[in-house]
Amino acid sequence: MSEHIMNTYGRLPISFVKGDGCYLYDKHDQRYLDALTGIAVCGLGHSHPAVAKAISDQAQTLMHTSNLYGIPNQEALADKLCELSAMDTVFFSNSGAEANEAAIKIARRYGHTIKHIDLPTIIVANKSFHGRTLSTLSATGNSKVQVGFEPLVSGYIHVNYNDMDAIKQVADNNKNIVAIMVEPIQGEGGLITPSDHYLQDVRHFCDANNYLMILDEIQTGICRTGQWFAGQHAQIVPDIMTLAKGLGNGFPIGACLAKGQAAEILIPGTHGSTFGGSPLACAAALATIKTMQTEQLDQRAAELGLYFQTGFKQSLAELISQKKVLDIRGKGLMIGIELDRPCTELVKQALDKKLLINVTADSVVRLLPALITSDEQADDIIAIVSQLIIEHTY
Ligand SMILES: *Cc1c(COP(=O)(O)O)cnc(C)c1O
Repeated sequence: MSEHIMNTYGRLPISFVKGDGCYLYDKHDQRYLDALTGIAVCGLGHSHPAVAKAISDQAQTLMHTSNLYGIPNQEALADKLCELSAMDTVFFSNSGAEANEAAIKIARRYGHTIKHIDLPTIIVANKSFHGRTLSTLSATGNSKVQVGFEPLVSGYIHVNYNDMDAIKQVADNNKNIVAIMVEPIQGEGGLITPSDHYLQDVRHFCDANNYLMILDEIQTGICRTGQWFAGQHAQIVPDIMTLAKGLGNGFPIGACLAKGQAAEILIPGTHGSTFGGSPLACAAALATIKTMQTEQLDQRAAELGLYFQTGFKQSLAELISQKKVLDIRGKGLMIGIELDRPCTELVKQALDKKLLINVTADSVVRLLPALITSDEQADDIIAIVSQLIIEHTY
């Protein structure tokens, strides 16, 4: 590893030089089955031909102009995203954190211009993750992300996730609330899946109080959970929704979508991005979405998700009854297996078995496989992960 790379990541001792579908290859042409897809990024698998072709064609035609001009690909992508999500307008960014920055700026400006609140405040959740910029790390409900970077950005109040009473209590005592920002499933926080009515309750509470509901779908969006957007499981449409990870299948792009009043808050001069929504990034996202639509990968993610849940519940049945496996949860292809003990070393052990997985919140095995994973590949993932968990808890 070069000493010239800033030391911000605890990296595994492996590099990949090639990807093909659900597999990654190292320089010795050793093949690894990828059950993490770059943290929910490559939903269509690696080097998908339709996305690669779209990028290549667009790169040879026009890569970047500027948001000083019209960008036809950006318009087409915005139309497509709004059609799929029932939202009204889109601001394009280059990353998830930047999409959330746009969401936060809309909420604050909504506070100032519509509600005449000088110190607009957003309710956010403990154990949430919203990004690594100063404002999004301040919104994040995890002190590990924040320590050393104080002073934090003000204007956030943290409450427990999946706890409507906690939201009501804060709101009762605070006239400055303008928005509630949550993830539909807390990805980094440990695949924490709220009760079915939580998102609906938040939606209703926002309606009743003229708060904006901000749904961070950066990890859950783009078919990952078996719907185009995870909020659709609860039949809700937020006022603001953010996307990034799966949107460009590996090409960096983020989006902040807004609806109704929230869609009109940002006006010329209030926000911007040099690279956001370039012809090239939007070509990658358009190809990604088109492929997912034609191959109905939202349905495939739902079906495969059930296949994984059933498979793991069978292969880990004994450990579940012994309370060594505490929970198998998630939706679609966002799968979490919570153990009764820390298990970060499983990542390395899986790597030795040529499988890529992740552990989050210390004791939750996190799987984010590609939406194109075959039943046979799913069987391989279930067998290897189950075996590792059985050995680890023996
Ligand atoms: C990954 C993630 C982010 C941050 O996205 P970046 O592209 O890394 O800035 C924000 N929110 C959620 C829910 C995420 O999973």
